[in-house]
Amino acid sequence: MKYEYNPKSKCADEFINHEEIEATLEYAQKNRHNRELIDGILEKARQRKGLSHRDAAVLLDCDLEDKNREIFALAEQIKKDFYGNRIVMFAPLYLSNYCVNGCVYCPYHAKNRHIPRKKLTQEEIRREVIALQDMGHKRLALETGEDPVNNPIEYVLESIKTIYGIRHKNGAIRRVNVNIAATTVENYRRLKEAGIGTYILFQETYHKESYLKLHPTGPKHDYNYHTEAMDRAMEGGIDDVGCGVLFGLELYRYEFAGLLMHAEHLEAVYGVGPHTISVPRVRRADDIDPDVFDNGIDDDTFAKIVACIRIAVPYTGMILSTRESQKCRERVLHLGISQISGGSRTSVGGYVEEEPDDEKSEQFEVSDRRSLDEVVNWLMGMGYIPSFCTACYREGRTGDRFMSLCKSGQIQNCCLPNALMTLKEYLMDYASEDTREKGLELIEKEIRNIPKEQVRQIVRHHLEEIEKGNRDFRF
Ligand code: SF4
Ligand code: SF4
Repeated sequence: MKYEYNPKSKCADEFINHEEIEATLEYAQKNRHNRELIDGILEKARQRKGLSHRDAAVLLDCDLEDKNREIFALAEQIKKDFYGNRIVMFAPLYLSNYCVNGCVYCPYHAKNRHIPRKKLTQEEIRREVIALQDMGHKRLALETGEDPVNNPIEYVLESIKTIYGIRHKNGAIRRVNVNIAATTVENYRRLKEAGIGTYILFQETYHKESYLKLHPTGPKHDYNYHTEAMDRAMEGGIDDVGCGVLFGLELYRYEFAGLLMHAEHLEAVYGVGPHTISVPRVRRADDIDPDVFDNGIDDDTFAKIVACIRIAVPYTGMILSTRESQKCRERVLHLGISQISGGSRTSVGGYVEEEPDDEKSEQFEVSDRRSLDEVVNWLMGMGYIPSFCTACYREGRTGDRFMSLCKSGQIQNCCLPNALMTLKEYLMDYASEDTREKGLELIEKEIRNIPKEQVRQIVRHHLEEIEKGNRDFRF
């Protein structure tokens, strides 16, 4: 059956339309040296209103050296204008690796009989969360495999309640984002009621034919149900959703166009695009060899993708995980990344104790194995402000409310003060001496960049209060 492209449709075959993607790739290929067209697209992009998937695809394909330099410079400028030099920190928390699906790139696939299967009890979750709080984390991304018997929605909801309820010293998890399998409107409603931040679901690949092969068994095999999940999440009242693909499974140009079409669809139907986009690449893991996938991308291409996403959807946060090495992170941070994980463990129960080699339950090998303190120190050394801010969703600034503040630029009045105050909390409670010294100096310097004198004064006052032991100030 042939489908027509329609971003307003709620049918996956129409809003992620294969023919439209093919036509887009052909158009991009044909115009990759079209200087006049590329100049026009860059001019549009400079207005900071984003680009269509077709225009963005031309930039991604462009092979004119001088224009590529302009593309990178523009991405860097947009990142500076919208996100300043702040990087928000988070950590993943794996609750369970039981899974009934057959994803061929993930070691948790149901046919893997030798990987240890683990599911945290509420008491074990408490211990993991205390370990995360003791590192300084305030924002988590929950991860579970799909298994209606072992990981039903009730288990996820109970775990969220447990996590929000844990207070240990000055620690608190203030925002729980959730990355679980596509589910029903009713379950999304229950997640919303449980107070989740963002609902994250990676598409893995937008190429339907490949998707069906890469997901041969289990409920995830249903491409349309998976691709339409964000629509159901929105209907269930979750207005902050996080998209992403797993680069390496299919041709990156195809995924790039699909990702932007997904964002355009959410914007067209719900008036709000994705809150975040993640850019993971396939990694080595138990019984997974990334080299068997033909579409791996090198660091240069990866950097270009990050830059073009930044230009195409300036208001959407971009997430980079510890899948990437320190070197690669250094290369792409300034091109548009707004959130990174630090000190991550990708195994079930990995924060309380390291697993012995013969009992590894991790989902993928972490490339960046540094502690959170080392990552914070490193970021500050490069001139970034590590931020533990979770203010927006706690102040009800979600969905279109958040986006309109972003688009008017007003959000900037909150982000820098909140970054400085949450960094100060981190420095007081968890940092090593060297990190603390660097951080206090950085705060002193950055406070001068808060434009309004009145806000500066309030921040100074709150920073003093933090020294006295008071916590959780926010704009
Ligand atoms: S990617 Fe997710 S759904 Fe697929 S096997 Fe891994 S845990 Fe299960
Ligand atoms: S104020 Fe809102 S947008 Fe800014 S860092 Fe905090 S949570 Fe993010």
